Amino acid sequence: MTVIKQDDLIQSVADALQFISYYHPVDFIQAMHEAYLREESPAARDSIAQILINSRMCATGHRPICQDTGIVTVFVRVGMDVRWDGATMGLDDMINEGVRRAYNLPENVLRASILADPAGARKNTKDNTPAVIHYSIVPGNTVEVDVAAKGGGSENKSKMAMLNPSDSIVDWVLKTVPTMGAGWCPPGMLGIGIGGTAEKAAVMAKEVLMESIDIHELKKRGPQNRIEEMRLELFEKVNQLGIGAQGLGGLTTVLDVKIMDYPTHAASLPVCMIPNCAATRHAHFVLDGSGPASLEAPSLDAYPEIVWEAGPSARRVNLDTLTPEEVQSWKPGETVLLNGKMLTGRDAAHKRMVEMLNKGETLPVDLKGRFIYYVGPVDPVREEVVGPAGPTTATRMDKFTRQILEQTGLLGMIGKSERGPTAIEAIKDHKAVYLMAVGGAAYLVAQAIKKSRVVAFAELGMEAIYEFDVKDMPVTVAVDSQGESVHITGPAIWQKKISESLAVEVQ
Ligand code: SF4
Repeated sequence: MTVIKQDDLIQSVADALQFISYYHPVDFIQAMHEAYLREESPAARDSIAQILINSRMCATGHRPICQDTGIVTVFVRVGMDVRWDGATMGLDDMINEGVRRAYNLPENVLRASILADPAGARKNTKDNTPAVIHYSIVPGNTVEVDVAAKGGGSENKSKMAMLNPSDSIVDWVLKTVPTMGAGWCPPGMLGIGIGGTAEKAAVMAKEVLMESIDIHELKKRGPQNRIEEMRLELFEKVNQLGIGAQGLGGLTTVLDVKIMDYPTHAASLPVCMIPNCAATRHAHFVLDGSGPASLEAPSLDAYPEIVWEAGPSARRVNLDTLTPEEVQSWKPGETVLLNGKMLTGRDAAHKRMVEMLNKGETLPVDLKGRFIYYVGPVDPVREEVVGPAGPTTATRMDKFTRQILEQTGLLGMIGKSERGPTAIEAIKDHKAVYLMAVGGAAYLVAQAIKKSRVVAFAELGMEAIYEFDVKDMPVTVAVDSQGESVHITGPAIWQKKISESLAVEVQ
């Protein structure tokens, strides 16, 4: 019998969450670097460069890779020969205490993103609890734990289908991935659970994402079963879709495809697919009774030293004096360096503003001629004016876009991923613009923010409206005032290029 101390589990969970908030797994850094080296699409290569630079900065600065520090997901394998002498809490409470300790650590405070009463008041629990915890009871005398912090943007793109047994899983994946857009911040990984029941497939899809990236080793040694064959087939074919980093079109959409399967009913073929994003964060530790687990920090040598510059063609603009005519001259795909003052606002602030407009009330901030950045920043520590502050998924604001543009005179929006048809139409009708920053490069983006203050809805916490003063914040024109979207044109161009080069290889 091994005796595990309650505080050893609590502290190990807390340490692991802090660790993964600023260290990518080494296999992920290497795979991302390989993707960077082979990428031919300039826009995708730029995005990957920013993700890698951000990753190195977070490792040295011990600050979060992404402003969305995730929903904590834990897989625990409890050995049957383990005792918890003197424990005053159940395992759920111990793990949640670890989450609380990690997210409120003063030296590296993480963003509290969890809302209780999800279908009602949606009130922030303030400490990112509770975690989503999965247990298995296994033979042995240790406690094995996988801890992950899963970003909402990628979790939102999870897909599930109860296929017919005769259906093709590969076809379903290839049809489904393009519908996920870029809100999951590719390049990343796909976790696929096949078989069991509906809920079993979903848990497997998540659990398999705890594994390391090893697709290139698999390629080298060759597949030894149907699941490994499918991994290789999907890896090639998903990348041939040309979606690319941040959905801008390019050679790498996935760094690996992971599959876990389980026997299923003769009538069923459940499949669940969960993407892991540019902020892939997970750690594994084992408690054997000798004290809290310690995780080895990656050497800085694991991080490539990449220099990224906006380039001489980047357009430097002053948001404080910008005119609609200037905005209308911006071209899709162009790099713009933003200077001056912008407002922020995301889901809750938009809902609140639209409710006020519907009641004929005056908004607490005048949006005329301004830009709104879709972001929920991490609180600052030490000398920071704001913590990591990367963009959130813009498509969630699509349903508010026409009314906000129409009734407030807003000039433009900044976010990540594509805009849907309704938002693109509204942008075109109002000759506005949508700019894209790189999702998963939050600490890097925050370096451009020189001042920050809350100007409305303070009670919404990270969802309040802030005013940021920025210097040379790099963004890309993702939907121009004519309604041309680089998320439509980019992947189409790269899918064609890839299929043409494959055709040449075959000849
Ligand atoms: S990288 Fe993108 S999807 Fe992942 S946590 Fe950050 S914003 Fe969310």
